[in-house]
Amino acid sequence: MADVKCPRCGRAIIEKDGRFGKFLGCSGYPSCTTVKNKFGFSDQMTRDARKWAHVAFDKIWQGEEKAQDRSDLRTKAYQELALFMELDGDECHMEGFDSEQCEVVIRWVKNGFGEGGSDAK
Ligand SMILES: [Zn+2]
Repeated sequence: MADVKCPRCGRAIIEKDGRFGKFLGCSGYPSCTTVKNKFGFSDQMTRDARKWAHVAFDKIWQGEEKAQDRSDLRTKAYQELALFMELDGDECHMEGFDSEQCEVVIRWVKNGFGEGGSDAK
């Protein structure tokens, strides 16, 4: 991890201990909130946007009673989201989205998330 620089402020990205284990973050914290994960860099604003996108997205499948149904619906929701956003399934991860993509997710859920939302039981 030598010489990784924060894209936002140019300071070094260093390994840190967080509540959820080790992570890579900007040494300029707290004035800079950049964190690096396997999908790339993000700042606090982007991570907040992802959180809300996740909350919206999870509502699609969390209502199902059976674990299997939840899992199936979740997979299907990701597939439809990937189609809608014209991403490969592998790229379709909330953790890799920027704040604009997160807004697209939230709108997509509000509008009935593609064809799947109108499934009559
Ligand atoms: Zn920084």
